[in-house]
Amino acid sequence: MKRIDALRAVYPHLENRIVVTIMGACAAELQSLGHRPNFFYLQHAMGLASSMGLGIALSKPDRQVIVFDGDGSILMNLGGLTTLARYRPRNLVHVVFDNESLLSVGGFPTATATGSDLAGIAAAAGVPRTETVATLDAFTRAFDGALGAGDLTTIVAKVEAVGPSA
Ligand SMILES: [Mg+2]
Repeated sequence: MKRIDALRAVYPHLENRIVVTIMGACAAELQSLGHRPNFFYLQHAMGLASSMGLGIALSKPDRQVIVFDGDGSILMNLGGLTTLARYRPRNLVHVVFDNESLLSVGGFPTATATGSDLAGIAAAAGVPRTETVATLDAFTRAFDGALGAGDLTTIVAKVEAVGPSA
């Protein structure tokens, strides 16, 4: 699965929701599909997309918030998952695109390349709904399920390590 295809598949669901992305390729790919005023591309704050999403979700409980995160970002701020779980915003869907790589800064392998399980870590942190998916069909099913679940969800989507220009 390519991240751009996953983003494209759920793009129609993003119109009336608040969207926060990590910096780098994920932000560039979402923007390439068409910017919307409800999209916020977090810059220069690696690891903090879920924290930004948490703050928005808690302050706007009547809105659904989608966070598009990455494996490198999550791994440099694992405490973000415990904070998410502690406050458990039921209006937040946390998607982690896991390409097992720090692609935007040179393609170095991350800990998920050697077996660390981000959905397992999220579950152990207390996130009530977690899932790992590896195909586009499974991703869209998981995303639709999360939108309708009404509870904090972390979806780890295994994606190829390719950026916007590939
Ligand atoms: Mg990555």
